[in-house]
Amino acid sequence: MDNGKHYNIAIDGPSGAGKSTIAKMLSEKLEILYLDTGALYRAVGLKAMRDGWEENDEKVSELIGGIDISVRYDMGTQRVYLDGEDVSEEIRRNIISDYGSRFSALPSVRSALLDLQRKTAAKYSSVLDGRDIGTSVLPNAKYKFYLTASADIRARRRYNELIAKGQSVDYETVRRDIEDRDKRDMTRAVSPLKKAVDAIEIDSGDMSTDEVVNKITEYISK
Ligand code: C5P
Repeated sequence: MDNGKHYNIAIDGPSGAGKSTIAKMLSEKLEILYLDTGALYRAVGLKAMRDGWEENDEKVSELIGGIDISVRYDMGTQRVYLDGEDVSEEIRRNIISDYGSRFSALPSVRSALLDLQRKTAAKYSSVLDGRDIGTSVLPNAKYKFYLTASADIRARRRYNELIAKGQSVDYETVRRDIEDRDKRDMTRAVSPLKKAVDAIEIDSGDMSTDEVVNKITEYISK
């Protein structure tokens, strides 16, 4: 589909809109790399939780420079390392969603993670999902999509995902967390979540994952 040429696909949108599932499926279909950028912010959130960082502490901008976050691929699946430790599973805990979101609002955290995202995208044809890929990380990405769904549908998806992973959560809490996180992501001063003017919006609410992937590949092959 890319005729051997390098290209990037940006997929942004609120929590639970299906970005990571769609991005992974798309990367397999197109045989390109998938970078889950939320995992990088989650790794920062994990570090912050473990070390008791406070968001309003000026020292965070120094501390962030001292940590090493990297990504490796194991049979095509992204693994995230924090100071050499594989934290891929631990960052999926519900509490890390909140830490990741709170620390992602800090300009020092965002700029510390920018290089890894841009270098990966420059090196490989890839699909990146996140909140600010089309607007800030890769404003020149060849293809941009903005995936949405109602808050209720997104919360139900996230709830089912967490239950399937054996985490004990209740639906109302998951929904409230998602709404709080979206609000924070949309209103932060630096790189807030918003649709890039040139992104194609897709409401995944009553579509299957295959339908969303097909719709995206249709746009790409046009
Ligand atoms: O996508 P995921 O839910 O794993 O992301 C965790 C948090 O990281 C988000 O709530 C958001 O605050 C932050 N994030 C971000 N920019 C990105 C990706 C994630 O601010 N590109």
